[in-house]
Amino acid sequence: MIAPEPRSISIPTALLPVDGRFGCGPSKIRPQQIAAITAAGTTLLGTSHRQAPVKNLVGAIRSGLTELFALPDGWEVVLGNGGSTVFWDVATFGLVRESSVHAVFGEFSSKFAEAVAAAPHLGDPTIVRTEVGDHPTLSAVADADVYALTHNETSTGVMMTLERPFLSDPDSLVVVDATSAAGGLLWDPTQVDVYYFAPQKSFASDGGLWLAACSPKALERIRSISASGRWMPASLDLNIALDNSLLNQTYNTPALATLVMLNDQLQWMLTNGGLVWANRRCAKSARSLYEWAESRDWATPFVADPTKRSEVVGTIDLTGVDANAVCAVLRANGIIDTDSYRKLGRNQLRVGMFPAIDPDDVVALTACIDFVVAALRD
Ligand SMILES: *Cc1c(COP(=O)(O)O)cnc(C)c1O
Repeated sequence: MIAPEPRSISIPTALLPVDGRFGCGPSKIRPQQIAAITAAGTTLLGTSHRQAPVKNLVGAIRSGLTELFALPDGWEVVLGNGGSTVFWDVATFGLVRESSVHAVFGEFSSKFAEAVAAAPHLGDPTIVRTEVGDHPTLSAVADADVYALTHNETSTGVMMTLERPFLSDPDSLVVVDATSAAGGLLWDPTQVDVYYFAPQKSFASDGGLWLAACSPKALERIRSISASGRWMPASLDLNIALDNSLLNQTYNTPALATLVMLNDQLQWMLTNGGLVWANRRCAKSARSLYEWAESRDWATPFVADPTKRSEVVGTIDLTGVDANAVCAVLRANGIIDTDSYRKLGRNQLRVGMFPAIDPDDVVALTACIDFVVAALRD
């Protein structure tokens, strides 16, 4: 059968979501965040990051995240340029002392393990793997000094509850990639030492920045590895990043518009009820999406265990209809980035359900998919 020209299927306007952006990063930015950029247009944008206006903005982000995550006393929010991928290299130099353990269950969780494996100054990492669509649970490993978890595996739509591995060495660190989870999923800081992310997902900003909430134990590790004299490039030196962050600065120049959008999203969350409120919004979207998929005989939530189905990234397998054709028609109608993670290679839709995305728009999306599938099957 020849797929119809996507533009030949027109979704009725009444069914369309208000905003058609369902991507998993960069993800939907609220119009108010763009207004915040405009408001900063002649005052903050285009000014020095070493002066009070930008330093105060960085300070507001650091204290806003401390409040949002209810970080205990002694934690610090550290930031630098490069995004989460660069943070893997930063952690390889500045957090892993000798050996790490990694829960690997998709593309993103495998990357930090690969960075450690390639580092000549570190031992071979221990990798605990499950098939995609599930996640492993880590147990204590003798001599491990870092346990690497991923709060939400964006490539598969699996979320995990963050827990310190039972009987792990009290000096070891739990280091969590929270790139797509931070700001949308709940977590308990007593179970974590480093919670790192980039702001282009739940925080609805642009990429290119990394942020890491660090426990006192993590800060101690950063200081002690640095004092040990291990060589590291200055731009990847976590100790330098920490010193700068404590002064509400970054080692080199950050993108100011990214900071403005991040802060606006953060203040929006805090004003409305913080992380619990943001998570409820995501969970509401997720409930709509998964219940809808379960009620269609041509759609199934990819993640079998309902407790592991992500509240921020939904993955839905299709049968008897080509997901790429569905995505193409949606895109032709202004509903974009519902494509599955390419390397996963499944006949699947993937839907961002970050806090900025209106739960009503997720319901509208499901109605649009119904319409498109019916049209394609005609
Ligand atoms: C998007 C994503 C990354 C990569 O983030 P960059 O900022 O592009 O480096 C890493 N981990 C997870 C879980 C992600 O979702």
